[in-house]
Formats: sequence, C-alpha cells, structure tokens
Amino acid sequence: MGRKTRQIKLGRLLVGGDAPVSVQSMCSTDTRDVTATLSQITALEQAGCDIVRCAVPDLDAARALKQIRSGCQIPLVADIHFDYRLALAAIDAGIDGLRINPGNIGERWKVAEVVRACQERQIPIRIGVNGGSLEKELLHKHGQATAAAMVESALGHIRLLEEESFEQIKISLKASDIGRTVAAYRLLAQQVDYPLHVGITEAGTVFSGTIKSAVGLGVLLSEGIGDTLRVSLTGDPVTEVRVGWEILKCLGLRERGPVFISCPTCGRCRIDLIEIANDVEARLQDLPLPLKIAVMGCAVNGPGEAREADLGIAGGSNEGILFRRGKLVCKVPQAELADTLVAAAWQEVAERQAG
Ligand code: SF4
Repeated sequence: MGRKTRQIKLGRLLVGGDAPVSVQSMCSTDTRDVTATLSQITALEQAGCDIVRCAVPDLDAARALKQIRSGCQIPLVADIHFDYRLALAAIDAGIDGLRINPGNIGERWKVAEVVRACQERQIPIRIGVNGGSLEKELLHKHGQATAAAMVESALGHIRLLEEESFEQIKISLKASDIGRTVAAYRLLAQQVDYPLHVGITEAGTVFSGTIKSAVGLGVLLSEGIGDTLRVSLTGDPVTEVRVGWEILKCLGLRERGPVFISCPTCGRCRIDLIEIANDVEARLQDLPLPLKIAVMGCAVNGPGEAREADLGIAGGSNEGILFRRGKLVCKVPQAELADTLVAAAWQEVAERQAG
C-alpha cells in the first residue's frame, strides 16, 4: 500500500514520504480569543490531533497567532483567503504552515513575497481547492466543478508556486460529495508527488458526516492516497479528531487507544449490552494502549470474540464472563460487568507499562 510522496515538515511533524498519516482539525473558536482557542487546542491535542488550523480573517487574528503559537506545542496552520498581508503577518507570528491558494492572492509580486517569507522560515503551503469556490474560467470550461476542473485548478496553483521555486507544498481537493472528491484525488495523485491532505468537505453533521468521511477517506486511504486528513463535521472539532483516528485504526494505518468489538445483540441476549458497551467505550476511550476490548451478548459468538480480545466479556443470564488474554477470569453479575471490564483494562495497562 502507499503512493510515494515527497516529505514536508510542519514544525517538527513530518507529512508525506514514509510518515504516518496525520490527523488534523480546525479550531471553531474566534482566533482573536486566545484563551478560548488555546483551550480548544489543548482538547484537540489530548484527543490525538497532530496539526491544528486556525482561521485568519483579519490582522487581529493574525497577530493573535503569536500568543497561540507560544501557548501550545502542536504544529499550527494559518488558514487565509486572498490577503497576502494576513499571510505575512501569520508567518511573522511564527506559524508552522500556511493554507492559501496562490492563484487567489492577486499580483505575482504578492505571491513572491509570501513565498519568500515561507522559504525563509521553512513553512510549507497547503493549496486547498474547494469544489464550491472554483475559478469562473474553469467552471465555464468544464461546465461545472468536475473532478477534472478541481485538478486543473490545483495544477494552476501549484505552477505558481513552482515558478517561484517553491516545492514545500501539500494539496487538498475537497468537494462535498464522495464520488467527485475521490475522482479528483485519484486524478491528481497520478500527476504530482506532493503530499495530499484528504477530506470530504462540508460532510455534514456528526452522524452523516462521519459516514461520508469514513467511506470517502476509506476508499482513498486504502488506495494509498492521503498523507494527512481532516474529517469535517458540523460539531465539536474534538469529534473530528476521534473519527479521523477511528478511520486510520480501521484501516490498520495507525494505532491509538483501544479497539472496541461489540455485538449488535439479538433475542439471545439476556443482559443490557447496549448500555454496557456504550459505558465501557466512553470510559476507556483514553486508554493509552491499543487493547482489543470485546463486549459480547451471549454464549454463541461471545466467548470466541471475547477470548480473542485482550479483554472481553460475554453475557449470560443476568451475568457475564470476563476473559483476559484468552483465559476465563471470573463470572460477574450484570450490574458489575462494566466496572469489572474497565478495571481489568486499566490493570492490563499498568502491568504492560510496568514491563
Ligand atoms: Fe446475539 Fe449472542 Fe451474537 Fe450478540 S453474540 S448478536 S447476543 S448471538
């Protein structure tokens, strides 16, 4: 698996090449509100975010980045549209990456100034093509925002940077529907070897956006396309990070925290499995090791799955059995099943960390 891309650096983080696929999100706070933004960044970092982006709509926001930069460790990207002065101010504030489309900056000397500042500070630029805001000429030429039109737009922005001898580039090609997004990334991946930031933009609420993102990113990542990702959700950005990680875990691309297995329940189930499974998942989501945790409803498939997991329970009649590394540990009354499994997981972590 894997399309070989060039490697770029955001602060200390490597993107592309043989670096693991990184998980990004974007602050939903007003960037000028440094306290609120830093508090959200802390929550994102705790959830496993690798790169954070902040919107920079004006000079005050660009200047606020200085305090934000010094208040956290995570690579920080400034998201800028059109105004080269905001880009320069954000670079001055010490950001690690810039998201700006050079074709939207205006005169060539403005592009050159931004590129020079990025070169001096070793800051990469993400070109972010969005199907909803393509250049008029391309819409006219292609009839609509097709995958080919999006790729042509990206190649135009890339050319502008290459003409300034700048190659610290990553590219995203986002549309709100999966077919077009996947087609655009596939097309671009055949033509350039810059790292790609993948995502389905404006994917929707937590429910529909999670599904859309998982399907779209699942296709791309399983084809080796994608060096860094963002799951865009109408919701808490922390959820974006958690969903991003689940996608990477499902594809076996990265490990972080536990992997949960639970059955859908059926007429054989004699315990309140749904409540137990949700409770256990919520309480163990920050477990620091990639333990496989199984929560199964009965003796048909339950013991098998529970035995193969690092830890598992299989329900009986108002009780359950706890398995640990394949061995039956004990029988537990239903009311104590969740607590017992959670305690056993933390004990497992303590034992493994002790060596
Ligand atoms: Fe039904 Fe048991 Fe399978 Fe759960 S493990 S779905 S309760 S048969």
